[in-house]
Amino acid sequence: MKANAYGLGADRVAPALWEAGCRQFFTANLDGALAVRGWLPDADVHVFNGLLGDTEAYVEDHVVPVLNDLGQVERWAACARRHERKLPAVLHTDTGMSRLGLPAEEIEMLLARPEWLEALDLRFVMTHLACADEPGNAMNREQLEAFSAIREHFPGVPGSLANSSGIFLGPAYHADLTRPGYAVYGGNPTPREPNPMEPVVRLSAQIIQVREVKPGKTIGYGADYRVKAATRIATIPVGYADGYLRALSDKGVARVAGVEVPVVGRVSMDLVTLDIGALPIEKAGVGTWVDLIWGREMLDIVAKRAGTIGYELLTALGGRYPRSYGRRATT
Ligand SMILES: *Cc1c(COP(=O)(O)O)cnc(C)c1O
Repeated sequence: MKANAYGLGADRVAPALWEAGCRQFFTANLDGALAVRGWLPDADVHVFNGLLGDTEAYVEDHVVPVLNDLGQVERWAACARRHERKLPAVLHTDTGMSRLGLPAEEIEMLLARPEWLEALDLRFVMTHLACADEPGNAMNREQLEAFSAIREHFPGVPGSLANSSGIFLGPAYHADLTRPGYAVYGGNPTPREPNPMEPVVRLSAQIIQVREVKPGKTIGYGADYRVKAATRIATIPVGYADGYLRALSDKGVARVAGVEVPVVGRVSMDLVTLDIGALPIEKAGVGTWVDLIWGREMLDIVAKRAGTIGYELLTALGGRYPRSYGRRATT
């Protein structure tokens, strides 16, 4: 549920996932968790970023902090004593990201404070993989081994380590709970292979103007792109303000009437220009729908053309698009 469900609208995604049987939700911060709590009174809602800010707010709304350092463990344990009951928590151990979580040394220090652990209802011990999208990377196995060693100190506590790509590393990585994000939203968790996921997101816009352009004419800001042969340019009302990254200038691709056409010229704040010269005139005019992200592969392909990953493309989708939610996969 991080980043408003990867830009797709947590208010719609959370209930849909609940209906599909998901009971465990993870958000980045407390605000995100409180929102999910509002939509799903019975879900288990966890905060990845940890126990930050108002500790009592976690207790009141039954939000489970992912404890990322010894200070957070201590504070949550103290809070549990104040409330005279065990409080639920996820313990995050760092096996290679050097970002959040207790490294092995701090796990040792934690084990020396049994009174802290006794105050907690440990729901999971978790870690996070750094290179799960590279199945051949030795770090995956190293992290799995380090994690298994740490889990031995917490017998009976379920474990969780796989993100979307981690799931595809095989059953050894599944532990008790996986935490898929990107794959749920249709992104390819196996970047070296065809996308095993169904398409989820489709981004479309309607042409608002078509212009006949003669050879030698330039298109857009900077007059960077010069037309070689007479063609037609279609303008669509999407721009970098909508998350259609400026890096897609001269690199993006769109689909009009089943034909792939290139983005030409710079992406503006609110507009993108396409060379539709390859299409018969009657196929593309004002009002014709154009796809910018479609099918199984284009989210990742378009992101790659922009020099980024589909995660960034999704989370950048602006607030200006009318959104429609349906049950069917989009093609
Ligand atoms: C974002 C995140 C995930 C989900 O990752 P995907 O690659 O989107 O599946 C899982 N675990 C943690 C700790 C994360 O921060």
